[in-house]
Amino acid sequence: MFTALADYHVHTPLCHHATGWPVEFSARAVELGLGEIGFADHNPMPAHFDDWRMLREDLPRYFAEVEKARAQFPQLTIRLGLECDFLDGREAWIEELRGLAEWDYFIGSVHYLPDGAEVDHPKYVARYRDGGVEEIWTAYWQTYGRAVRSGLFDFMAHPDLPKKFGYRPAGDLRRFYEPAVAALAEMHTPFEINTAGWRKECREQYPAREFLELAHAAQAPLLINSDAHAVEELGAGFAEAVALVKGVGFTQSVRFRRREISFVPLP
Ligand code: ZN
Ligand code: FE
Ligand code: FE
Ligand code: ZN
Repeated sequence: MFTALADYHVHTPLCHHATGWPVEFSARAVELGLGEIGFADHNPMPAHFDDWRMLREDLPRYFAEVEKARAQFPQLTIRLGLECDFLDGREAWIEELRGLAEWDYFIGSVHYLPDGAEVDHPKYVARYRDGGVEEIWTAYWQTYGRAVRSGLFDFMAHPDLPKKFGYRPAGDLRRFYEPAVAALAEMHTPFEINTAGWRKECREQYPAREFLELAHAAQAPLLINSDAHAVEELGAGFAEAVALVKGVGFTQSVRFRRREISFVPLP
């Protein structure tokens, strides 16, 4: 099953909250029989920004660690990517990062709301608890739409992230999903089904099944990724994710090489 799959959302210790170097993840990828692995650590910022991303001066180390893995595992296809935070008004920085390496893909992520709150950071949980759920979800999905429409990203990370701690607005959530899926379809931008959600309080993959159904109807392509921050998380939940998306009707996944997309059948 795994040979037909790639895991493109993998972190490294350079972001200060992950364990496992590219050589270790790659050894595990070979063990699992994954078709491809791709590293996508949290993108550096021009100056100090927060404590959970790569430092700009660590980029050469990042490239070297990925090269080391490529040299050690020639039988494995190893991609070079970055998980980039979309921040309103800072789009030029993403363009600048583009020029720094032979990237295979940039993943677009929304962790920050325009007011600076982080939707998935425990220090903001009180905001959800104290009646802020609807407001956070609204701001998140609006930002998500802008991130997609920026055209900066090869695919989009973990839609549905604000449910991480288990707080969801009441009612039909498709009112949030529909505009996001419309943006993805319009921009021909794939999104990932991210299995990390199964490891969080929400106990559900990102995004919810309703989102997947809308995306399938709109013909938005998808990828299956683990968002591994530790070696044992690589490929986690992939069998369940494949069953889920095939049940919704998806038949394909996508790959990237130097920002060029190709389609591969799901196992
Ligand atoms: Zn992370
Ligand atoms: Fe993320
Ligand atoms: Fe991530
Ligand atoms: Zn992530």
